[in-house]
Amino acid sequence: MSKYILKKEKVVDALNALGNANAVYIPVKNKRGLVEYKELGRDAAAADAKFDCRPDVPPKAILFPQTQVLFTFKKVDGKIEVVPTEPDDREKIIFGVRPCDAIAIAVMDKVFIGGKFVDTYYKARRERTAVISIACDGPADSTCFCPSTGGSPAATEGSDVLLYDVGDSYYVEVVSDKGRKILESLSASLETPSPEQEKRKDEIVRKAEAAEGFTRSITAESISKLDSSFDSKYWDDVSRRCLSCGACTYYCPTCHCFDINDEPGRKRVRTWDSCQFSNFTMHTSSHNPRTAKAQRLRNRYYHKFKYSKDNTGRYLCVGCGRCIALCPAGLDITKVISEVK
Ligand code: SF4
Ligand code: SF4
Repeated sequence: MSKYILKKEKVVDALNALGNANAVYIPVKNKRGLVEYKELGRDAAAADAKFDCRPDVPPKAILFPQTQVLFTFKKVDGKIEVVPTEPDDREKIIFGVRPCDAIAIAVMDKVFIGGKFVDTYYKARRERTAVISIACDGPADSTCFCPSTGGSPAATEGSDVLLYDVGDSYYVEVVSDKGRKILESLSASLETPSPEQEKRKDEIVRKAEAAEGFTRSITAESISKLDSSFDSKYWDDVSRRCLSCGACTYYCPTCHCFDINDEPGRKRVRTWDSCQFSNFTMHTSSHNPRTAKAQRLRNRYYHKFKYSKDNTGRYLCVGCGRCIALCPAGLDITKVISEVK
C-alpha cells in the first residue's frame, strides 16, 4: 500500500489543483450553520473546507440527488417522445469524507448497482466519483457508534484514499487504483512519511481498532430482540415522541427511498421519500398498510437492523449518529434498540 505525506499548508493548493480537472466536493459550513458538502469553485472555496468534524449532512446527494429529473417527454404527431436528461458526466472527487460515510457509499452501491437491477442514474455518477476520506481520531461526535455496526474510525471500505491527521500533515494511504491515479496528479505536493508520522498514524489505527472513546453502542444481543418484538407495545410508547418529520431518514447516509412523479413541464422527477411520512406506503387503491406512526417508526428500526441484515448480510446503519444529533424529538437509535422489549 503506497503511503505519502500531504502537509496541511498544501491542502488548499491541492484541492484547487484537483478542482481544475474534476468537480470536487468539500465539507463547508452553510448559511444555517450546518456543515455540508459543496462544490469547490461553484459554491465553496478551498480555504473554507471544514475537515475537523463529522459533517452534519452526509455526501449521499452527490450520488443520489434529492431531486433528479430522470427525463422529459413531449407529444410529437400524437406519440409520446422521451427526451433523456443530459448525464452529469464530470469526474467527481468527494474530499474529506468520514469513514462511516464512505462505508455508507459502499452500502448504497449494493442497493443501487450491486443486485439484479441496476440504477443507471446512480451508476453514471458513481463510476465517475472518487472518495477521499479522513480517518477519525476517536469518535468525531458524541453521537457516533460506528464500531457497533461493523465500521471503524479508520475503516477503508468505500474510500479510494484514506488520510490520517498526524498534526501539521495528513498521512495519505492509497486504497484503490482510482485513488492512486488521483494522487499521481498531486505528486509534486506529496512527501515521504517520517518514522514519527508512521507512529502517529499507527496510534490512530490502534485507537480505532480498540474503539476507544465511544460512549454509545448497539449490541448484537439488543438487535436480536427484534426477532420477537414486532408486536411489542414498546413501539406505541416510543413513537409518541416522534414528529414524523423524516429528518432521521433525510440526514441518514444509507436511507435511499424515493418517489417518482410526473411534474408540470412534462418532467419525470425522482425525489427522496421517507418511511416516516404517513403516505409513504399509500397504495393507489387508497389502502395504507402503515397508518400508525408506531408502525412507521418500527419499520425504520427493522429495516436498518433486521430486514437488511437478513437480506444482504449487513446493517443499513453505519453508526454515524446523525439521526440522534438531528432528531427534534431527541430520539436516540442506540437507546431505542437497547430498550426494545
Ligand atoms: S427525526 Fe425524530 S421526530 Fe423526526 S421522524 Fe425521525 S424519529 Fe421522528
Ligand atoms: S440510522 Fe442514524 S446512525 Fe445509522 S447511519 Fe442512519 S443516521 Fe447514521
